[in-house]
Amino acid sequence: MRSVGIRGSKFRFARSSSEQFNSILCALFLALLMVCGCGQPIAPTDQGSSEHRMMLLPDLNMRFGFDLNRFFVETDSIKPNQFLADILLPHGMSYRDIANLSEAAEDVFSVKALRAGKGYAVLTSDTTKQADYFVYEPNRLRYVIYDLKNFEVSQIERPVERRPNSAQGVIESSLWLTMMEQDLDYELAAKMEDALAWAVDFHHIQKGDHFKVHFEELYVDGERVGVGDLHGAYFSNSNNDHYAIKYASEKYNGYYDLQGRPMKKVFLKAPLKYTRISSSYNPRRFHPVLRRVKAHLGTDYAAPRGTPIYAVANGRVTKRGFTKGNGNYVKIKHDKTYSTQYLHMSRFAKDVVKGTQVVQGQVIGYVGSTGLATGPHVCFRFWKNGKQVNHLKENLPEPEPMAESELPDYFEVRDSIQAILDAIDVGEIIALQEG
Ligand SMILES: [Zn+2]
Repeated sequence: MRSVGIRGSKFRFARSSSEQFNSILCALFLALLMVCGCGQPIAPTDQGSSEHRMMLLPDLNMRFGFDLNRFFVETDSIKPNQFLADILLPHGMSYRDIANLSEAAEDVFSVKALRAGKGYAVLTSDTTKQADYFVYEPNRLRYVIYDLKNFEVSQIERPVERRPNSAQGVIESSLWLTMMEQDLDYELAAKMEDALAWAVDFHHIQKGDHFKVHFEELYVDGERVGVGDLHGAYFSNSNNDHYAIKYASEKYNGYYDLQGRPMKKVFLKAPLKYTRISSSYNPRRFHPVLRRVKAHLGTDYAAPRGTPIYAVANGRVTKRGFTKGNGNYVKIKHDKTYSTQYLHMSRFAKDVVKGTQVVQGQVIGYVGSTGLATGPHVCFRFWKNGKQVNHLKENLPEPEPMAESELPDYFEVRDSIQAILDAIDVGEIIALQEG
């Protein structure tokens, strides 16, 4: 047995699995908070404040477009439940000033979007007087300057350098474990999963399966800040080869197989990410709330309350309403044949009303337990010609293939990416045990 290495790499994010899980939860939580529009106090995020503190202001010269030697600089990270006023009042600002600033910020970077754990700096040229600037860093890619005297707000994007890189791995147990063992970060694993989700069932991969990825890493001021585009991914699953090639042109943008067929199908497999089926389609189910046999004509997906629910395909919203049984629900008509319905939502997504055109993957609402439900879940109902069917047993329509006229351009891109992927050496692969 051998463990595999990374080619030409400088992976810096070695996270534990619990941290990865936290970051998923945290993203869900954040998404929730953002749509709540909680305003002040500043909403808490994860405990990652120390990380952000470290990235902010490693040396105090030119930063944020200022010569910091001209200022007294206070840097910190926003604490959970800390108000903007808590930060700025000690710097000579009045409540009036802060209200004016909030108003000026509304269209650029609202102070309601400030999050605990993120870094900030207060720049003061004369400490006997009011501070001059409040600088907030939502991430390493950008920062926001709040001019405290003129009530002007600007958001600055940092120049990002994209460096190509490749990686590979052989599955010992799970994809996540393999990625972690090699210091590949969560973002890259998620991108690979997105590209290949239709071809590979990542819940049922086996020892000896292996993958290769070609992607770009993003650098700001020489520091790696994340993963950019995933250009191509290869996965060998039970000795079957799967390639996903990223292709973008005027008409197309997405992942395609070697023949130029979209990797993405017309329907998502499930209306939620990171979910499990808690109750299957079953015409003879014993209903847990009604306590009698009642056909269950949907598939239940359990997830924490507030988890975003996605439209599984493009379509038009035909119903958005409430009934005692369904709770809050949305129904979408996809074409002449198919409609889908999503029950028990805690809330609807903003702007999703009857008549709205939605696209696959668009958030239409949030998991809840309204109506007849024992716990938070989505009851997902799939209608075919007016009848409810088990979508997991349906032969669903295939996506439209790429136009013939586009193929020569696509094949050129495909060939170069496939050549890179094929040249990546995964080393010795532990043979699958037959039988
Ligand atoms: Zn159900």
